[in-house]
Amino acid sequence: MQFTAEHRQLRDTVARFVTEEINPHVKDWEAAEEFPSHDVFKKMGDLGLLGVKYPEEDGGLGLDFSYAMVVAEELGKIDCGGVPMAIGVQTDMCTPALARFGSEDLRKEFLRPAIAGDAVGCIGVSEPGAGSDVAATKTWARIDGDDYVINGQKMWITNGMKADWCCLLVNTEPDAAPHKAKSLVMVPMDSPGITRQKIHKIGMNSSDTAQLFFDDVRVPRRNTVGKPGDGFRMQMMQFQEERLWAAANGLPSLDRMIDATVEYCRQRGAFGKKLIENQVIHFRLAELRTEVELFRSLVWRAVEDYVNGEDVTRLASMAKLKGGRLSLSNDLFERGQSFNDCD
Ligand SMILES: Cc1cc2nc3c(=O)[nH]c(=O)nc-3n(C[C@H](O)[C@H](O)[C@H](O)COP(=O)(O)OP(=O)(O)OC[C@H]3O[C@@H](n4cnc5c(N)ncnc54)[C@H](O)[C@@H]3O)c2cc1C
Repeated sequence: MQFTAEHRQLRDTVARFVTEEINPHVKDWEAAEEFPSHDVFKKMGDLGLLGVKYPEEDGGLGLDFSYAMVVAEELGKIDCGGVPMAIGVQTDMCTPALARFGSEDLRKEFLRPAIAGDAVGCIGVSEPGAGSDVAATKTWARIDGDDYVINGQKMWITNGMKADWCCLLVNTEPDAAPHKAKSLVMVPMDSPGITRQKIHKIGMNSSDTAQLFFDDVRVPRRNTVGKPGDGFRMQMMQFQEERLWAAANGLPSLDRMIDATVEYCRQRGAFGKKLIENQVIHFRLAELRTEVELFRSLVWRAVEDYVNGEDVTRLASMAKLKGGRLSLSNDLFERGQSFNDCD
């Protein structure tokens, strides 16, 4: 991946924003279990950071996907996981299908305010009984004239408490097989019949996570993104950008965890010397640094292929898998557990 002067400029802009507008508040936001997403998103929208990869006609910067991934990586330097996750949902999880397949009217009503930072979006896929098995989601819509009437519930929805709209995966085709029965429907979150329940988590506290209940929620059928019945396929495509976002965003924290471990090993003594003076520690650190560099190469290779229009389903999935595995091994290592546990 060749980075240009524009990539570097964008990286500097995000770094400044993180240092000045986000990191000073992270402790308070984590303690409060929320952050002022509308304020933060507005500031980011004003800087053009919420629509880097989206067309200028929709208020975006019209740059390619690699620029969005530079933003994702730099947001990984935020001192918590919750705030970057909330931003990532807005930029790379609830908007890709809308931008690509949404009608002019839908983009005007939902995408442009999201890019400007005037609206907070969320993506409603997971349910209490269906997570990884997306085809098993049960939320359904009955047709009534020009409207859908939606019933069901969604679980673990990031931004769910504050969102102005939800890109909702919902069964609209009762006679079709599960993969062809679903549509992505844009649902204004002030619609009558929606209730939201905050979910308290053990981490990523500043991002608001909600359970959403839909009880006879009426939405115009023209709010369908693309074709009815095509929702599962569009959501699978949307997941590619989500996976690459997660992988790129995780990179800085891997570097930081190793840095913190080095520092700990320099300070902590055992058996008459500093931990860092044991060569076995150097071996493990060198191995982890190497793995992170290999992971970095995988992420940017996948991003480059994606920009070139290739199918990156396999590479993006590998990147998300490896990022998760590395976080776990570094985390165990950082806590000073036995090296055998790190395998
Ligand atoms: C902080 C946070 C934010 C989230 N934000 C959103 C959001 O904004 N929008 C959204 O739609 N979702 C969101 N999610 C949901 C997330 O995408 C789901 O957690 C994910 O889809 C997995 O679903 P699940 O947790 O229900 O578990 P599942 O993947 O359904 O797994 C349930 C159980 O089955 C096991 N299992 C799964 N597959 C297999 C298999 N093939 N073989 C054997 N065992 C298996 C698992 O190990 C687990 O024990 C969020 C989750 C979290 C934690």
